[in-house]
Amino acid sequence: MPTLFKSLAELLEKIENTRKRLEITALTADFLKTLAPEEVEPAVSMILGRPFTKWNPKTLDVSWTTLTAILQTVTGAGWNAFAEAFRDTGDIGSATKSVFEQTKLKKQAQLLEKELTVPEVRRMLEAIAETTGSGSREKKERLITALLSQASPVEAKYLVKIFTGEMRTGLHEGLMEQAVAKAFEVPLATVQKASMAMGDIGEVAAIAKEGGKDALTNISFRLFRPVKLMLAQTAADVAEALEEQGGKTAFEYKYDGARVQIHKQGGEVRIFSRRLTDVTQSLPEIGEVVKANVKATDAILEGEVIAVDAAGSPVPFQHLMRRFKRVHEVTGMAEKIPVRLFLFDVLYLDGKSLITAPYLQRRQILGENAGDIPLTTQIVTDDRDEAERFLQRAIDAGHEGLMAKKLNSPYTPGTRGKRWLKIKPVLEPLDLVIVAAEYGHGRRHGWLSDYYLAARDAETGEFQTVGKTFKGLTDAEIVEMTKLLKAIAVSEEGNRVIVLPKIVVEVAYNEIQKSPKYHSRMALRFARITRIRYDKDAEGASTLERVRMTYEQQFAKKGRYKAE
Ligand code: AMP
Repeated sequence: MPTLFKSLAELLEKIENTRKRLEITALTADFLKTLAPEEVEPAVSMILGRPFTKWNPKTLDVSWTTLTAILQTVTGAGWNAFAEAFRDTGDIGSATKSVFEQTKLKKQAQLLEKELTVPEVRRMLEAIAETTGSGSREKKERLITALLSQASPVEAKYLVKIFTGEMRTGLHEGLMEQAVAKAFEVPLATVQKASMAMGDIGEVAAIAKEGGKDALTNISFRLFRPVKLMLAQTAADVAEALEEQGGKTAFEYKYDGARVQIHKQGGEVRIFSRRLTDVTQSLPEIGEVVKANVKATDAILEGEVIAVDAAGSPVPFQHLMRRFKRVHEVTGMAEKIPVRLFLFDVLYLDGKSLITAPYLQRRQILGENAGDIPLTTQIVTDDRDEAERFLQRAIDAGHEGLMAKKLNSPYTPGTRGKRWLKIKPVLEPLDLVIVAAEYGHGRRHGWLSDYYLAARDAETGEFQTVGKTFKGLTDAEIVEMTKLLKAIAVSEEGNRVIVLPKIVVEVAYNEIQKSPKYHSRMALRFARITRIRYDKDAEGASTLERVRMTYEQQFAKKGRYKAE
């Protein structure tokens, strides 16, 4: 008897109602043990809120509008009922459950239906994903309607969460790895390693169920299954990167393009995007260049693809994204928007995983195997001035900044750590007004050394905080600043002194983020005072509008990854 989807939904309900990690992994492990081998991957994927395995390029492609229309048909409830339930629960899945519970009609119909099972739900999700092309919309809707009509309230709740990708039960991939280790009595480290190599914990779980530890230990990279990407943290400047990475590091140009992971097996090459979707068809010339240059039979390489103009200079990424999205008539587009590949890493070569090899060694192996494909421009240095000049060269050539890579670091899939740091040049500094300050600790005890920085709302004249910093001023300046601020203090709240908005400081920063912390809903990252603007009064400070504009400009840039 196949496992009922109801059991899976009930498990998710229990997980959602506890915050205890141990309980979550125990409940999940117990459930996994009851599954038949062929049910393991589908169940694990669904529990994590995915219709299919992580690397699978298939998508359900169901808009929220379509889904709500179907939910209304299935339950007979109006839009208002959903809106109200959503207001009460704040969650689309829970709102669905509540509306399903309220509609009697639904319950009567359900008595006549047979119960949904895990394999059957997977089959239906596949059918929905496979319905593409002209006339597919109605067919898709019919399939979803059929699926939801058979669902009980709690089943509908989790189906909707899978459709919308909004599972959010608190059971993330790391906990799932623990549950798999527990269920199939395999060491956690073995599960984690296998998951890193295969890129999908559902498949790892299925192998663990059938073959236990031995089967998992033998897992290596599989060509044409993308490996999770190693990601970078941000460093304020080259000095910080040098310090963080032990005084000496490798700086590479940070190209303003799109990450690709390239898999080659014999004469076949496939290319995966940053989101690990297969973009081979959109980038035929990259496939060709790899086939022509990489002599190794099997390889997994990483690099950045940038769009260039006729002279070979980088052009904005909007152009590049048009290439990534294009699947038809690629040739014409390839002529209009030429692209170039710069390689920066190698993860696997002819049967050997290289991810534990140190960066410098991987880079050398990459160089030996790249043929005429350029590697990212790189220097290895311990000299700050040399690094500064290299950064300037990168910017002058139209690139985004630098990456700093720790010399002896392995490639760690799926982690955003300090072994890779990105350095983007500082944005134009802002002139901000100090509206409050806090006393420092330790050596700075008794000094007002931590400052709240505000921009001026040109319409209301109000000052709104957009950041906070204790960086940039010398000790002497802090002493001076303390005096100035005390003279304009209006109230004290604990350690914080609120002051009149009078003192203007010039502030450098690396990025503006959306943040609930301040009323302005924006926050500067890595803010530091570069000088005190004795020459400016608060009326001359940067406006909130200007901060918002800078924020949006960066956002337009970052949007490129969404387009992918
Ligand atoms: P970010 O997307 O801002 O987190 O920056 C990291 C991204 O920079 C990577 O995912 C790559 O797409 C891109 N990148 C550009 N040049 C390099 C490089 N030399 N090494 C690694 N990543 C690079």
